[in-house]
This record gives sequence, structure tokens and C-alpha cells, in this order.
Amino acid sequence: MKINTINTKILIIIASAFIIMTLSIYLFASHYLKSMIDGYQESVYSEKIDTILDMLERKYEHLTETFLIDAYQEDFKQSFLEDFRSSYFTGNDQKVYPFILDSKGKCMIDAGMNGKSCPPKEKSFFAEVKNEKKGSFEYAFKGSAYWVIKRHFPQWDWYIGYIVPLSVKYTHFYSFRDILAMIMAVTTVLALFIVSLLVTNFTKPIYQLTKASLALSSGNLDYPMKVNSSDETGILTQSFLSMRDAIRKTISDLNEKNTILTQEIAERKRIAHALKDSEQRYRLLVENQNDLVIKFDTSNRLLFVSPSFCNTFDGKEEDLLGKNLLELIHKDDRDRIQKTLDATHVPPYTCFHEERTLTKSGLRWFAWSAKGILSDDGTVTEVISVGRDVTSRKKAEEERELLIKNLEQKNAEMERFLYTVSHDLKSPLVTIEGFLNIVKKDLKKNDTSKLPSFISRMLNASVKMRELLDDLLNLSRIGRVVNEYEDVPFRDIVNDAMELLSASIEKKNIKITVEDNLPVVRGDRQRLTEVVMNLLENAIKFTSSEKNPVITVGTKKGEDGVIYFIKDNGIGIDPIYFEKIFGLFNKLDPNSEGTGVGLALIKRIIECHNGKIWVESNGQGKGCTFCFTIKA
Ligand code: ADP
Repeated sequence: MKINTINTKILIIIASAFIIMTLSIYLFASHYLKSMIDGYQESVYSEKIDTILDMLERKYEHLTETFLIDAYQEDFKQSFLEDFRSSYFTGNDQKVYPFILDSKGKCMIDAGMNGKSCPPKEKSFFAEVKNEKKGSFEYAFKGSAYWVIKRHFPQWDWYIGYIVPLSVKYTHFYSFRDILAMIMAVTTVLALFIVSLLVTNFTKPIYQLTKASLALSSGNLDYPMKVNSSDETGILTQSFLSMRDAIRKTISDLNEKNTILTQEIAERKRIAHALKDSEQRYRLLVENQNDLVIKFDTSNRLLFVSPSFCNTFDGKEEDLLGKNLLELIHKDDRDRIQKTLDATHVPPYTCFHEERTLTKSGLRWFAWSAKGILSDDGTVTEVISVGRDVTSRKKAEEERELLIKNLEQKNAEMERFLYTVSHDLKSPLVTIEGFLNIVKKDLKKNDTSKLPSFISRMLNASVKMRELLDDLLNLSRIGRVVNEYEDVPFRDIVNDAMELLSASIEKKNIKITVEDNLPVVRGDRQRLTEVVMNLLENAIKFTSSEKNPVITVGTKKGEDGVIYFIKDNGIGIDPIYFEKIFGLFNKLDPNSEGTGVGLALIKRIIECHNGKIWVESNGQGKGCTFCFTIKA
């Protein structure tokens, strides 16, 4: 029998309750019965002794009244003792023992307990008997317990009493107690048997349910179960059966889903495998191409960077990931790029943009083609973009733009040039033609008086025309006739120019200061000498009216390198003409010497040396400084 079954537990509880109840009844009944027996025996034996004493007292009083007491006292005692002995001693099967002790403890009747010694002969017994307070007491003698009841007869100072063995005193009590115990035991066994039957009957459905539950938990859904009653256990069984049906259905559903899931897993594995293959191919492609590949989220945070991207920005992948893409772009391009990237969030989800990017090798141009990746909900959450370094193309484009611009400028210049040339060349021809017509008319009239003057003026016009043509020829040669570039000390170039102009310098008494430590310049020595000579020539020309004309040749530091300058304290130039004077045939004073081609020629030579030329002046009368740079 298993101790943890409901049956056993209920039986143990009921058995315990029964045993406790039986014991309680037994103990209570024993105690109560014993008290009753005590009271009963006390009254029986008291009555017996009191009857004897009554009778003794009456005889004693009778003898006293008849004054025969003294004469018959001894006989009276002996006869009383005889009577007492004969009436209360019944032989060997005697169960109650009377005794009489005199005032000194001598046994007048010794209870006759089949032995030489008996309780009345014990001193301790006499001491107990003498104790006035007790009418009865219990006494132990030779391993047996006795109940003693006694009375005192004062006339003779005798103690009369009975000794009753406890086994005799409680004979009925013991037999009643044994019967009660037997009845209780039988009742308990019977009750337990009946309860066990009832409990077994009551717990049978629960037991069955338990077995069915165990079967269910071990996977057996077909364990036989029946609803046998409509009470709570019946309802419980019914619920269990419903639950089992539900579980059966759930298991069947699960099995179906499991089959589907298994197929799905197999399919996913196949897809994952294919994806892995594809990812490997894609990775191989991405990692081995020079184009930059990146992926970023809607906040432009980098989610993927290809090795070529890391290499371009000289950064580690972990440092670049999470960084805002726009941080890597030139700040002037950021707003434009952001607007362009917004196009990846609307159909067709693509955009193309070019931007300047700060790479490890400086600012470079990249062309990006971006595509928004659609998520399941139809929104763009990530953008993938492929970029290519187009710096060289951009440079080529810029150069082409510059060339086109230059060409346009040159075309415009050429148009102006052609117009100016044709206009300026036309003017001496018109002069010559005019004079020739006058000469023709004068010759018809045979008037030759003005002929020498006309011829002289026509010669002047033709000289002017030749000068113009020489200058034009010189100008047209620049850029075509190129002498070998060489490193020349600028001081040597200045000296050459001054040598060529020495006559006019001396004639006009002009002081020219040349700074020390002038650098070495690389370029076409002959052309550069022409530049310095022309500038010095102009400076001399436009300072000669000054009292103390001073010209300074030197260099200063500029943003793009050395700036060469020729400074004078001559008539100066109004800032509004700073550009104009470099044009062809542009002279601020039409009556001044020269053809107005000099500065245009200089400008052309300087540009051929990749340099710039400009003039600085605080206005008319305040002198001017011609500056130029050379990057040959
Ligand atoms: P030109 O050969 O006639 O001197 P340029 O082209 O050399 O022609 O000069 C154009 C004009 O620029 C001059 O006519 C003059 O008005 C002005 N110019 C040039 N150099 C100076 C200078 N040092 N001071 C003042 N004006 C100058």
C-alpha cells in the first residue's frame, strides 16, 4: 500500500481520529468508573464496619447500663472476637480480610492471610491505621496493593477494619474495562473497514483520473475512461475527457503545423544556403572591386562599408560604421546631397549625385548611384550606394570648361582685335587715300606746291601703319614661337631690359632702383625681357614729367608665390581703367606715344607663363605699380 495515495491518507486520518476518540472514551470511562467503584466500595465497607460497631456499642452500653461491664468485659471481648472471626473468615478462598488492632498495635484478629506475616503485623500499617484523618488508604505489601478501611472503637481503643486487595476491589471495573476495550477495538476495525470501502468507492474515480493523467502525461491519449456519476467526480472526469479531446486536437494541429514547419525549415535552409552562396559571391565582388560600396539607414548612418571605402577614407570598418555619411562630404555639398538622397525614398527609389569628399588623399570627386531598399511594409529603411572616383574626369571637365571659357574669351578678344585692327589699320590708309586724291586733283591742275607736305604726311601714315603691323606680328607670334624655358636670375632680365633702354633712361635722367637678392625665374628669357622692358618703357614714359622720377624694380611675397613689381611715381591710373589698359590698342591718352599694344602683349606673355598681371594705383597723379607672377 502506497502511503501517498488519497485512500491511505484518508484512512490514516480516520483511523487516527477513531483511535484518539476510543482512547479518550476509554480513559474517561475508566476514570469515571473507578471513582464510582471507589465510592461504592467505601459505602459498602463503611456500612459493614458501622453495623459491627453499632452492634458492639449497643452491647457495650447495655452492659454499662446494667453495671455488668466490669464483670463481663473480658468475656464480652472474647465472644465478640469469636463472633467476628467466625462470621468473617470464610476459609482458604477468602478475598476480603478483616482485622482488629488494639491500642498498641497488637493483632486481635490478624486478617488470616494464609501466612505468618500479614499487613496488620507491620508497624507502618499500624501507623497508617492510627492516622485519624483517614478512614481508608491504600497499602502495598509483598508486591500486592491493598485497600484498607478502618474505624476506631474508643471504648476499648480498638481499630476495626478490612483489607481488600485492589484486584478484588476493582474486579468488575477490570472486566468492564476489558469488555469496553474489546468493543472499541472491534468497532474501530469495523469502522475502518467500512470507511475504507466507502473511501475506496469515493476515490475510485479520482484514482482512475490519476491513472488516466499519468497515461496522458506519458503520451497515451487512449486510456479508457468513463463518466460513472453526475457528482463532482463525474464532472471532473467529464472535464478531463474534454481536456483530453482538446489536447488530442491540439496535438493533431501541432503535428500538422510541425509538418509544415519542417518543410518551411527545409526550404529556409535551402534559401539560407543559396543566400550564403550568393552573399559569398557578392562579398567577393564587393571586396575586390575598386568602386566604393556602402549601405546606410534613413538617418544617413553607415551600416555597411566595403574594403575599398575603408581604404579610401583610411579608416577601420568599425570606426566608420555608425558614422553619418554627410560628415565625409564637403560641407558645401551636404544640403544638395541630402536633397538628392531624398529621391531614394520615393519611386523609382534611385538617385545619382556627384560630390566632393574628403578622403585620405585630400578632396576628391565621387559619383554615387544610390538605390533605396524597400522593406516589407513598403517603406525605404536602407539605401545602398555605389561610388566611383571621378576626380580625373571632373578635372578634365573643369579644364574643358576653362578651355571653353578661355576660347570664348579669345574669340571675343579676337573679334575685338579684328575690329580694332581693321579700324586702326584703316585710319592711315584713309589718310593716305585722302592725300592721294588731293594730289591727283592738284596734279591735274599742275599744282605741286603742297606735294612735299602731302607726301611727308602720307609717309607718316604708312610708318604708323608699319608700326601697327610690326606690333601685331609680334603679338601673333607669342604662344607660337616658343623659346626654350630656362632658369634665369631676374636681376639679369632687369639688367638686359635696362641696357636696351639706357639711352632714354639717361636722356630723361630717371632714377631706377633695383632691389637686391632678386630670385631666379624660370621661363622664356627673351619674352620676359620684353615684359620688363615694356613695363620700364611705360614707367619712363609716364613719369618723365615728374620733378624727381623714381622707378623701383623688386619682388614681394604673395599667396601664390613671388610677385614681381615695377613701381613708378608717374601720372598714375584711375582704378576704373585697371582692366581696360590691358586691352589691344587701348591708350588712356590718345596723344601719348605708342600703339596701345604693349600691355596686351605683356599680358599674353605672362599668361603663356601661367602667371597673372595686374596694376595697382591710388588714382591719377599718384603713381602706379605693375605686378605679375610666373609659374612656368
Ligand atoms: P603704349 O604702347 O601705347 O604705351 P600700352 O599698352 O603699353 O600702350 O599702354 C596702354 C596705356 O596704359 C597707355 O597709353 C597709358 O595710358 C597707360 N599706361 C601704361 N603704363 C602706364 C604707366 N606707367 N603710368 C600711367 N599710365 C600708363
